[in-house]
Amino acid sequence: ADREKMLKALAEAKASLPVNVNIVINNKELQSGKIFDRVNPSQSDQIVGKIQMATTEQAEQAMQAAQTAYKTWKNVPCEQRAALVDKLADIMTRDRFKLIATQVLEVGKPWAEADGDIGEAIDFCRYYARHMRELQKPLRVGGLPGELSHYIYKSRGVTAVIAPWNFPLAILAGMVTAAAVAGNTVVMKPAEQSTVVAWGLMKMIQEAGFPQGVINFLPGYGEEVGEYIVNHKYTTTIAFTGSKAVGLHIMNRAAVVQPGQQHVKRCIIEMGGKNAVIIDNDADLDEAVDGVIYSAFGFSGQKCSAASRVIVLDEVYDRFVDRLVETAKSIEIHPAENPKAYMGPVVDKEAYDRILGTIAEAEKNHKLLFKGSVPGGGFFAPPTIFGDVPGDAKLAQAEIFGPVVAVIRAKNLDQALDIANSTEYALTGGVFSRSPANINRVKEELEVGNLYVNRGITGAMVDRHPFGGFKMSGIGSKTGGPDYLKQYMEPACVTENTLRRGF
Ligand code: NAD
Repeated sequence: ADREKMLKALAEAKASLPVNVNIVINNKELQSGKIFDRVNPSQSDQIVGKIQMATTEQAEQAMQAAQTAYKTWKNVPCEQRAALVDKLADIMTRDRFKLIATQVLEVGKPWAEADGDIGEAIDFCRYYARHMRELQKPLRVGGLPGELSHYIYKSRGVTAVIAPWNFPLAILAGMVTAAAVAGNTVVMKPAEQSTVVAWGLMKMIQEAGFPQGVINFLPGYGEEVGEYIVNHKYTTTIAFTGSKAVGLHIMNRAAVVQPGQQHVKRCIIEMGGKNAVIIDNDADLDEAVDGVIYSAFGFSGQKCSAASRVIVLDEVYDRFVDRLVETAKSIEIHPAENPKAYMGPVVDKEAYDRILGTIAEAEKNHKLLFKGSVPGGGFFAPPTIFGDVPGDAKLAQAEIFGPVVAVIRAKNLDQALDIANSTEYALTGGVFSRSPANINRVKEELEVGNLYVNRGITGAMVDRHPFGGFKMSGIGSKTGGPDYLKQYMEPACVTENTLRRGF
């Protein structure tokens, strides 16, 4: 039945292309006349969206709207804010198939991956609404006799939300709802490649009934309006998920105080990964191969959590590699709307050119073990595996963000851990082993924010796997976990002299 619903949703979505996407400020739709055509990466002659790209004047209007709305929104009771976010989750649940169809067509996610993204978006809404209800209860802290102290959380102000395209609904909705439920107002700047999905979110936000100016929608170019809202004096918090280069640039810009600015800007920054899976000598190789295939090639490796290094202990190296290549041969690559697609395209021509360039360069320097064949008509990058890659090679150090895996040989677990920890990133990692002692060592020594033991490395599972990295992968924000919302707020301590009560 779900298959039929999905096919119907896809047919309906395709019949209404291209989607016209407007700017939304104060709940009013605006245009700029600067139009960006977003194409379907599975079929590059099909225009999915005609997007009005905001100007910096409109970015200024959005900031003013958010600043004005903040004066009232911060005093709206927490329960009302949380109820709006829950309502948004209800609408997403109702429109699930439609939302999946948009992702399939705009970013080329195969069905199951797109469905996972919608599920995660719903979970973020529910989790942050629930957590905010808990956090609003004042926490009593110690005090002297005759004194009563409470610890409370206050909102911060205007939040600039800048999102990537790879989890186009979940990551955007997660940052926006966390900011808004905490009493902040939002200017959201979606990624250029996933603005039609983001437009769907904005329409649902309006349907849920968020008051005007609380959540504003600013489609546009990162270097233009993204930069503008980061630099703006009203911005108190910047929630960013994306590449290391842009994340570090934003942190740098955020440190520059603008005339009239009254806050230190807080950056909640999540960046890339170069994630390693260690295969121990006694690993269950079937499980390990399945886990690596899923982690490396799911959504064509375009996940911050994707496995892109597999560090295999010498004794099992040959057996593992043979099975990995054998299984990789069965990966089905089709346009994302085809239900048989295990892998679809990569997001756009720029990504395609970059990934193919990386593969071509690596072919000159490393042993090619496997390169899949791909259909035409879109930006299909082949699943590719290189073997005996030195741990310090560029291929084993730089994030590729595509379906490319470097298999690295290690003498023993010590060396495997050294290699795994040798990159600047610390996001996800995995180990396949039957040895409790070795598993413990990996738990203690592998520098990652999310470790997966004897299972494929997946991304975030809200509440169950609070997600995020450290080193150059981020600053430990941990989405979908108990520390996340607090970053959108200011803790304050209120101390009262209780002996004066009644006077
Ligand atoms: P990106 O950094 O290119 O773009 C992210 C966003 O930043 C986009 O909205 C873009 O328009 C905007 N931007 C670009 N330049 C800007 C500027 N000068 N000022 C302000 N905003 C600017 O990243 P991407 O290609 O969209 O996403 C892929 C990257 O995201 C990968 O590196 C991936 O690992 C990372 N990622 C990390 C996580 C995580 O949770 N750690 C999750 C998903 C993706």
